[in-house]
Amino acid sequence: MEQKNTWLSYKDADVKELEALNEDYKSFLIKGKTERECVKLSVEMAKEAGYQDLEDLIGAGKTLKPGDKVFRTWMKKAIVLFEIGTDAIENGLNILGAHIDSPRMDLKQNPLYEDTELALLDTHYYGGVKKYQWVTLPLALHGVVVKKDGSVIELSIGEDPKDPVVGVTDLLIHLSSKQMEKKASVVVEGEDLNVLIGSRPLEGEEKDQVKLYILKLLKDEYAMEEEDFLSAEIEVVPAGGARDFGLDRSMIMSYGQDDRVCAYTSLVAMLNVTKVKRTTCCILVDKEEIGSVGATGMHSKFFENTVAEIINLIGEYNDLKLRRTLQNSFMLSSDVSAAFDPNYPSVMEKKNAAYFGKGLVLNKYTGARGKSGSNDANPEFIAKLRNEFDTHHIAFQTAELGKVDEGGGGTIAYIPAAYAMNVIDCGVAVLNMHAPWEITSKSDVYEAKKGYEVFLRSE
Ligand code: MN
Ligand code: MN
Repeated sequence: MEQKNTWLSYKDADVKELEALNEDYKSFLIKGKTERECVKLSVEMAKEAGYQDLEDLIGAGKTLKPGDKVFRTWMKKAIVLFEIGTDAIENGLNILGAHIDSPRMDLKQNPLYEDTELALLDTHYYGGVKKYQWVTLPLALHGVVVKKDGSVIELSIGEDPKDPVVGVTDLLIHLSSKQMEKKASVVVEGEDLNVLIGSRPLEGEEKDQVKLYILKLLKDEYAMEEEDFLSAEIEVVPAGGARDFGLDRSMIMSYGQDDRVCAYTSLVAMLNVTKVKRTTCCILVDKEEIGSVGATGMHSKFFENTVAEIINLIGEYNDLKLRRTLQNSFMLSSDVSAAFDPNYPSVMEKKNAAYFGKGLVLNKYTGARGKSGSNDANPEFIAKLRNEFDTHHIAFQTAELGKVDEGGGGTIAYIPAAYAMNVIDCGVAVLNMHAPWEITSKSDVYEAKKGYEVFLRSE
């Protein structure tokens, strides 16, 4: 059961390929810091690979045949791609699913205020965060402001080196004796995650001069009024790009690798694998970090509806065929796993932990307090994957999220499993999960992409 470090198995050509993939992954991370940005990038990549927008085919008297490639986005925050296989579609799909939302702070609907001649934005954090990690960092604002006439202002402030950054301040150590006594969960409280954005007063005003200066600036640069915050979706994320991590450059540090490391590698695998037997599918969803809810999360009917549209365009839609297609599908729920951290060995059970450099991580189950909320994959399906991965020399490991009773977590796996299909969690190990800057191993990124390709081709 002892597994060698994957790096030791690489020839020069492998390392070259690994580096090229990771360079592309880093630029995806830099440009894709929100679900909308990730969808936009995915559409560009899909079009370049010959994919057509499904919306152009629906109701246009068009049909789909084996080899055809289509994508569909939903509310600009989720995307699903298909390549039609030569097999009958009711034999099932090979599905790669990952999520493109990440923990962050969202602006409240009425966010802007002035306090003691400083202008601040009030936030509501999104997903599971250690709030104390989000102070004293350079932060960027990404998102959209939709005006009453429907026009959309796109914002991205803080990524260009010439851009200003914003941030949440923290108390100086000199005056922190009481703060330092607090529990970590309350040392920085949610309501105190206020982003400092200005300190310069607008001349000729009586009160709230600093806030008014910011409003003037928003008006001049973005034609935006204060009321427009009401219909905005602005995310506060760590400013700055993905970087090589480690003196040996064997790792990547970036914001949002949960779960863009799986989303990116799944997407690349989807675009690379062509002329398939079973119809392939890659779905990148929103809202995983808050329970996969909403119209763009995995619980949305968007996925099922789109599979129905696909069957309809192949030409013989009926409800039974849709159900058979879904139940006969295989899915890798591609999400990150906790990498073993030598600083915190006590929360891990070493035989069943994920390690950097050991390849894709298969999690038979997730959940907490006795696997609660978990999908728990079937051994028949795991055996099939083991066989595929071993045959094609894909490095993989098995793990669970920490020791029994230490905590736990969930993924999207149980949601498609409700269609009665085989699903397993299969992703990449991450250090610093959910922190502003997360770390992955380049070799695991490489193995993930190769493993996803093998899965998509499998019969
Ligand atoms: Mn995740
Ligand atoms: Mn997560």
